[in-house]
Amino acid sequence: MREKGFRKCIVCGSDYVYCPRCGKGNKEETWRYLYDTDLCNKIFDVLSSFTFNHIKKEEAREKLEALNIPKGMKFNAEIKKQIDSIMAKEPKVKNEPKIVNEDD
Ligand SMILES: [Zn+2]
Repeated sequence: MREKGFRKCIVCGSDYVYCPRCGKGNKEETWRYLYDTDLCNKIFDVLSSFTFNHIKKEEAREKLEALNIPKGMKFNAEIKKQIDSIMAKEPKVKNEPKIVNEDD
């Protein structure tokens, strides 16, 4: 059986323990309900602001850069996709050639 309060961070996918009832982890830090670290919390904040069009891509990028996300930090696939799309410094939308598998 899994330990009570066992969670997976929705940003980086790390396993951690937090129980809002007994405060395992830290009761004061309610963001621990969803994220293992404050950094993940802040990253998610930026991503959701951007997703809901509260901030522009440039602003989201600035905010992410200001967080000094360590290189090599792990993210869950969906989050990684969002971060990559924000951090991609392309002034225009590129028409990337589609890779087609032609077996026949
Ligand atoms: Zn995390």
